[in-house]
Amino acid sequence: MLNSNSNSSAVENSNVAKSRPLTSQRIPIKQIDSQTSGKIHIRQQKGYFQRIRTGMNSLLVALFFLLPFISYQGRQAILFNISEQQFIFFGTTLWPQDFTILAWIFIAAAFLLFFATVFWGRVWCGYLCPQTAWTFMFVWIEERIEGSSNKRLALDKAPMSLKKASKRISKHLAWGAIALLTGCGFIAYFIPARELYLDILTFEASFWIATWVWFFAICTYLNAGWMREQMCLHCCPYARFQSVMFDANTKTVTYDASRGESRGPRKRKQETDLGDCVDCNLCVDVCPTGIDIRNGLQYECINCGACVDACNQTMEKFGYKTNLISYASENELVDKAVPFYESYKFLGYGIAALIMLAVIGFDISSRSAIELNVIRDRQTLYRETLTDAIENSFTLKIRNKTQQARHYQIYVSGNNSYQLAGKSRVLIEAGEQLDYPVTVSADLNALDKSRNEITFVVAEQHSHSQVAQNSSFFSPI
Ligand code: SF4
Ligand code: SF4
Repeated sequence: MLNSNSNSSAVENSNVAKSRPLTSQRIPIKQIDSQTSGKIHIRQQKGYFQRIRTGMNSLLVALFFLLPFISYQGRQAILFNISEQQFIFFGTTLWPQDFTILAWIFIAAAFLLFFATVFWGRVWCGYLCPQTAWTFMFVWIEERIEGSSNKRLALDKAPMSLKKASKRISKHLAWGAIALLTGCGFIAYFIPARELYLDILTFEASFWIATWVWFFAICTYLNAGWMREQMCLHCCPYARFQSVMFDANTKTVTYDASRGESRGPRKRKQETDLGDCVDCNLCVDVCPTGIDIRNGLQYECINCGACVDACNQTMEKFGYKTNLISYASENELVDKAVPFYESYKFLGYGIAALIMLAVIGFDISSRSAIELNVIRDRQTLYRETLTDAIENSFTLKIRNKTQQARHYQIYVSGNNSYQLAGKSRVLIEAGEQLDYPVTVSADLNALDKSRNEITFVVAEQHSHSQVAQNSSFFSPI
């Protein structure tokens, strides 16, 4: 593994830290033996940061499963309705042509993530990433069934027996059940949730729905049960480009080598010349990616804080000051901390995120709830009637983009007097498009050119919403 991040100047191992000033501008590169090649038996850790992480992960999982059950105005509040090409979000319906708003939302979310990363490092990975949340959930189940990390290691090495087989089967069944539930939870954002769960429970789901549920269930099972940290190490692109966002003020999980080295075991209260690291290895045992943070900042670190809690526990046991491992920036370690708002990256990403949020707000507020498309009759340019009137035919494609049925009034105007034949008031059901044929007529004697511009206006009754589109009215002149 190659450690090549500039922040590591503050946290790399003691030998390097002692031989070179921490403020050096040179980027240190150090070869470290890989520790993440074998299976990791994560030791569960309790503590301040783990309580925060568990709370946030639990909230994320709860929201994931419960959001599809929330109804708003009689419909599922969040639904990607692929068959009807709609994305419903709390009463607002986005159509394919509105998807620029989704693009803005993704861009704003990316800037917000970068903004948080400049200040808190990979805090997203440790506290909010679904991969982390589901992995910790699977590890929790594993620990309940197979026991602590030591017991799991012993079980791995033990020959197959009835006891081992029953534990393994129980674990995989429990993982499978959670994975299947996750598959349903995911598909519930695309198929109305209540129908979906009922169909799954009564084995009445269609072939394709069942296939997608199983597909996501298998992905979850492999990801959280087997792949785990390998996804973060080898598949996640964010792990690779995060260092671009770091600067000397970024708080990352950091080992204070100047205080901890030289490390070494000792008895409690024993007088010693060693540094504060008692080499208990707890920080490595609890690490979900299997690294040793004492080797310096590494791209594998997901900033989960488990090693901070583990080390603080050891420090308290030995009566030492806590935070030998802590969330600290490079500047803080050399007592040069500057306010975070003086970081140009922090300000830059913050301003970019605010601009994107303003763009989203503007886009949503200027969005019309009616869509109109006017199509001329391609067969006949015009018709002359016995009463010297000229008629042109059109089809109005009117879409009600709201989630309620609406009445609409149709008007036509132009440089002459135009009349609409037939009904000018229509009712359109929620989310439906009406293809409405209309005939527009004008007095031949009042027309002075062969091509006249006319405007169709469709206005929602009892509302200020309206939409207009121009077209052409042809006559024989
Ligand atoms: S080094 Fe510490 S913060 Fe980083 S992933 Fe491992 S346990 Fe979590
Ligand atoms: S947990 Fe703390 S004391 Fe124990 S090995 Fe890690 S850094 Fe050293």
